[in-house]
Amino acid sequence: MKLIFLDLDKTLLGDDYSPQPAAPILNKLKEKGFVIVFNSSKTRFEQEFYRKAWKIDDPFIVENGSGIYIPIGYFDFEIPKAEQADGLLRVKLGVEYSRILETLRRLEKSFELKYYGNSTLHEVMAFTGLPSHLAELAKRREFSETLFRFECADVIQAIERNGLKVTKGSRFYTVTGHVDKGIAASRLIELFRKLGDVETYGVGDGENDIPLFEVVDYAFVVGELRHPKAVPINDVSELLRRL
Ligand code: MG
Repeated sequence: MKLIFLDLDKTLLGDDYSPQPAAPILNKLKEKGFVIVFNSSKTRFEQEFYRKAWKIDDPFIVENGSGIYIPIGYFDFEIPKAEQADGLLRVKLGVEYSRILETLRRLEKSFELKYYGNSTLHEVMAFTGLPSHLAELAKRREFSETLFRFECADVIQAIERNGLKVTKGSRFYTVTGHVDKGIAASRLIELFRKLGDVETYGVGDGENDIPLFEVVDYAFVVGELRHPKAVPINDVSELLRRL
């Protein structure tokens, strides 16, 4: 079985966040028999929009490795620590969103922080470029926050002193518990290994994808970032020629 972990922002999605450009690539991956797992800092609700647009029913990893969602019945065995959450199974790896908000609210004045939780829908649209329907889905957060703006770099240490983690993504910094895309991918790879041999692939463009590159058999990096293990590609369409 071939399992591919794909980042969304700046990997499958361009600046207009439209699902259309990547659709043919995902169809080719399906034809080649890949299990397609999104591994993104995007929320469950945003990823459900893209899963529906691309007709993909495989498990997915949300909010920078903070949670794994698995369709009920996808695996024919019991999944450790999984709970039911609105029609899916969820394995929580990160901390609750309320815990992150509590920390950011304490720091927001001193560092002039702007993030989803203290921004209006219009502000979110302006910071991210998301259209309103996707901005609404991005505001429904479970395990992470995104720093759109902050006054000084000391904020990262201040957040980390509160037991949280700050990671750089394609566009912004993300605040989470002590999780990453690699830890979550490994948990899912373990589950797939119960079904048979697994060959794993990972594709991303940002610093937050490095832990993913480290746990897969074959890694590909889109754009400027370099990593000793990851093969550089210009865009995801080049990926198909490399697999
Ligand atoms: Mg990205």
